[in-house]
Amino acid sequence: MAAKSGVKIVLTASATEMSDFLNNPFVAFAGGFAKGPIPLWFLRRALYPPAGQNNGSGRARAAPYGLRKVESLLLENGFDESEVAVVHPSNLDSFVGPDTKVVGISSMDPTGMAYVSKTYSSIVGGGEPLNAIEFKNLIRHRSIRKYKPKVIVGGFGSWQLERKKVAESYGVDCVVIGEGETVVNEVFRKAVNGEPVPRIVRATGFANHDRVPLIKHTAIHGCVEISRGCGRNCQFCTPTMQKRRDVPLDKILKEVEVNTREGGSRITLVTEDLFLYGMKDTRFVPNREAIVRLVKSVAAVSGVKGVQPSHSSLAPVVADPGMVKDIAEILIAHNWYYHGSKPIVTSEIGLETGSVRLMRKYMAGKMLPFKPEQWQEVVTQAFGIMNDVDWYPLVTLIIGLPEEREDDVVETLELMDELHDFNAFYVPLFFVPLENCLLMNNQGTELDTLTKARWELFTRCWEYNVRIWGDTFLEHRIPSPLLFKFVKHVAIPFGGKVASVYYGMKHGEEMEKAIWRMAMA
Ligand code: SF4
Repeated sequence: MAAKSGVKIVLTASATEMSDFLNNPFVAFAGGFAKGPIPLWFLRRALYPPAGQNNGSGRARAAPYGLRKVESLLLENGFDESEVAVVHPSNLDSFVGPDTKVVGISSMDPTGMAYVSKTYSSIVGGGEPLNAIEFKNLIRHRSIRKYKPKVIVGGFGSWQLERKKVAESYGVDCVVIGEGETVVNEVFRKAVNGEPVPRIVRATGFANHDRVPLIKHTAIHGCVEISRGCGRNCQFCTPTMQKRRDVPLDKILKEVEVNTREGGSRITLVTEDLFLYGMKDTRFVPNREAIVRLVKSVAAVSGVKGVQPSHSSLAPVVADPGMVKDIAEILIAHNWYYHGSKPIVTSEIGLETGSVRLMRKYMAGKMLPFKPEQWQEVVTQAFGIMNDVDWYPLVTLIIGLPEEREDDVVETLELMDELHDFNAFYVPLFFVPLENCLLMNNQGTELDTLTKARWELFTRCWEYNVRIWGDTFLEHRIPSPLLFKFVKHVAIPFGGKVASVYYGMKHGEEMEKAIWRMAMA
């Protein structure tokens, strides 16, 4: 525990972001859902408990990767471990005191404006998303209010505070937007010295990896960054505005070792696209040798039992199917996920739309080295190649891209027909004009703009999910075969009927039909 006077710099994040969601990175999406009638204390225990404490010290055993980078930057630039503490919000009382000068907070989604929050909190209803509720609870924590340290907020979602104009009312002194590594030291030093800090700092430069120190302690989900930026130039996307950089393999392996040294055994490779690693080709043809070497080397580190790429893309799968086979062999031997009892590989992949017109208009680089006209063919071929090696992608689709027409959605529905027999998990999302992307000044999609075709797409995605994953979900939670049958054939249809009537009254007939179809899938 810290001295009663507090630690000079305390780094933290909201309760949803300081959790590993019971060791399941994809369940972390649930932070974007509204809590409904479920009490917060229950969700904190059952859905997003703290990712662990260090030997009774009160410091967080695992923390978001970005917060770990800030910690390292401070420790390499004049502060020592006694002056910087990374803690879960439930431990703030023990670390924030009269000597605390700064509380640094990292956030991916402080006001619930991220894709998942925006979509599912409006559809499911029940109020604000958990991410927004927990961020508010953190920012209004009694120790922060009592001792009034300077509050600095950064992270991928920090722009939301400015967009919603709530930074001041939340008591945030400084919002850092952009790649924080380039500005963190200066901002924190000023705050510690009691000098004024700008209310908003836009980091316009790009942090070079030789100037970014390695993390010193475990990151949640064993995150290790392997590359940053993309370069395919999709207009709705923020990472593509960043310069594309690979982290050298020796640095990656050192961070893997940091994670395993502190008890982690699963590694998440953080990237916009695994298949971009080591890529030099202007047409985006992947560098098989570099990618296989990377995955093999990470898997070979002593103590590593699981390896999970965060994101990948479809076109390189078709450009080099042999590469996918080579990587899948290693990843299957280090799997996190199962379909039934079969180990599988997964990664998040943006399908976005089946409309060739919209692909050409907003993301003509996404399918390189192929052409926009080939998009549907690229998607179906890539699904086939991946499924053949037990790679079941988590697929995101965007509903309501600017100027989306009914025939664009129909094209996506036709593509969904083609994908009927493949295994994947689909996450349809409303378009959100993220900060610093080319479409940032456009209107986001709202629930009341869902046309018949958009509802159909939304429903179809979840119908597929229930059909493909329903049994796996139940089997992993209900060991008794009799109970399994009861839940599947009685409880779910009954619950589905009740939910469809309830949500039908709330959102109309389309919603009622959607829920009923999912329950019966
Ligand atoms: S491929 Fe993905 S990461 Fe790259 S620009 Fe497009 S959406 Fe962004």
